[in-house]
Amino acid sequence: MPFRLTPLLQKRLTRRAEAMIASSLAYFPELDGKTITVGYTRKHLGSATVVYRKGIISQLVIRLKVRKLSYQTIGHELTHLVQGLARGDRRAASSVQGENIPSGEKQCDIWTLARDKIFCDDAPTYIRLPRAMREHWPAYAEAVRDLCIAAIEKRKSHRLYIGWLEAEIHRLPPRSPEKQSTEQLELPFGHC
Ligand SMILES: [Zn+2]
Repeated sequence: MPFRLTPLLQKRLTRRAEAMIASSLAYFPELDGKTITVGYTRKHLGSATVVYRKGIISQLVIRLKVRKLSYQTIGHELTHLVQGLARGDRRAASSVQGENIPSGEKQCDIWTLARDKIFCDDAPTYIRLPRAMREHWPAYAEAVRDLCIAAIEKRKSHRLYIGWLEAEIHRLPPRSPEKQSTEQLELPFGHC
């Protein structure tokens, strides 16, 4: 098993939440072959810690609040571990394919959303979003994810890529949630 549950978490974890953690890890090849300790937190949505001993990573820990657990939160904390790997252990960093994920909370949100659609089930915490977008997140999730992918590309030539991203997000046309639910209703009728 690529992760180890602390006794405190084990007591609270549902089968569904455990399956969510396992499937999230499959999207993080950077963490392959490493054991992740998953613990419980009451205070935050989640947290992540990379523990070093003599300059070498000795433990990778994420803590999750089990209530209302989202792939977004799990992905965000796992992305922090990847950020930590890149910063600390040089040997670990060199084995990571492609470019390192820069440190920072907004960066963590951007790289998490960009990684896969599965991590777009809830709005990110740190990227600035208009309130309407936060309230009707599912209607905007795909468009925001596309912009995150574009921002990562933009970063290669544009130092202020986060500012660019947030401006682009605010420029997205408003979507009425009514329209969204009509679209969802149309499908089953179409098949009848
Ligand atoms: Zn964070």
